[in-house]
Amino acid sequence: MNEIKRKSADQLNYVALAGGVGGAKLAHGLAALLPPEQLTIVVNTGDDMQYMGLQVCPDVDTVLYTLSGWANTQSGWGVAGDTFNNLGALAALDVDHWFRIGDKDLATHMLRTLLLESGLTLTQVTAELARRMGIAHPILPMSDAPYPTLLETNQGVLDFQVYFVKNHCEPVIKRIFWNDGKEGQASPQVMLALNEADCVILCPSNPFVSIDPILSLKGVRDLLRERFCMALSPIIQGKALKGPAAKMFSELGVVPSAHAVADYYKDFVSLFFVDELDQAEMAAIAELDMAVEAIPSIMPTLKERKQTASLMLDSFFQHFTGVST
Ligand code: GDP
Ligand code: CA
Repeated sequence: MNEIKRKSADQLNYVALAGGVGGAKLAHGLAALLPPEQLTIVVNTGDDMQYMGLQVCPDVDTVLYTLSGWANTQSGWGVAGDTFNNLGALAALDVDHWFRIGDKDLATHMLRTLLLESGLTLTQVTAELARRMGIAHPILPMSDAPYPTLLETNQGVLDFQVYFVKNHCEPVIKRIFWNDGKEGQASPQVMLALNEADCVILCPSNPFVSIDPILSLKGVRDLLRERFCMALSPIIQGKALKGPAAKMFSELGVVPSAHAVADYYKDFVSLFFVDELDQAEMAAIAELDMAVEAIPSIMPTLKERKQTASLMLDSFFQHFTGVST
């Protein structure tokens, strides 16, 4: 921490770990406050899939679309104002079309696939997509190699998107694993960013299928234990705002709560944020040997995203320098 104290606020390096919708919201707020030199966003690729020969990276795309302003904020996925003519044509041709890709969205996957086929890595391709969408901050897919999330359920082992989209998260989860149990590698760029980070921020993403894939890559969890890590709860009042995070806690035998998230991260997180509605959980979280604060954390628009991000950054700075920004 002495090293941090010698740095001024504008010299600190932050890495945000994000999945899709919840992660992108906080990343958006952070990106509005921190310059690209100070913030790197590392995104889950466990959800990635092939769709009609195209490489789709749903969480990376949610982050790209959110930071570029392309996002469909109503649905939480895809591009605002998109049309689905292509999907209609596929249906007319009797193609199984449970994965809904809009016409504009399709362009992203076409370009990604084209660039990958030209020999670029997923990291390079994502940087190129970000540049073309006018995003200045580095957005890093967690790995250049496929590292698919697999769910062992009461309906057998399912690919992530089959569980999430085709089966609407209905199967009961028994276990989550990655890449057939074979260890994965974070990209060199991710390891470098984490090595240089003064503060790692766990966005309010699903702990099991958005953050865990990143943590399970070789060396990442160990590295985080040596870094200052803070996290914002994706669970508010015992519920997920969207998606299966609360259901997953229950199925894995834990009552969903902000405390359950803090407990899940307790081996490396030292500052935890709950929503202001969950102040009653703060005392129990403090017993996990981490600092805890309550902040407004529901972030529908950029205004709330900036406010939440700003409170988190201020708090980090105060905790570890004793100085207010
Ligand atoms: P996904 O990959 O699209 O499912 O997205 P993430 O894993 O990044 O985020 C899902 C989580 O985001 C859910 O558990 C939600 O409860 C949480 N979430 C969504 N919006 C918000 C928000 O405004 N504030 C907070 N604190 N959590 C949110
Ligand atoms: Ca996701």
